[in-house]
Amino acid sequence: MSLRPELAAAHDLPPFLRRQDLACLDVNPEIFYPPSGGDGATEARRICRRCPVTDECLVWAVETGQSWGVWGGKTGKERHAIRRTLKEPL
Ligand code: SF4
Repeated sequence: MSLRPELAAAHDLPPFLRRQDLACLDVNPEIFYPPSGGDGATEARRICRRCPVTDECLVWAVETGQSWGVWGGKTGKERHAIRRTLKEPL
């Protein structure tokens, strides 16, 4: 997700989203909110793959229940599936 450090601080987001080397830092945020249906998330996934905090971002998005947008290379639907899997008994 593309948030400049000062916005991350203002919105009380975690420190890793305040880094200056996020792959999405200077990217159009709309890329991370593709329309539903099809796979409009391809470009966002590509950007997330080269980000230094991909895993951290995905864990944060899953744990905090982010529903919209691509975080850590996963769409809201994919993160929902991850949360469902984590809740399943072993
Ligand atoms: S993993 Fe993706 S959404 Fe998360 S900070 Fe990096 S580029 Fe942005």
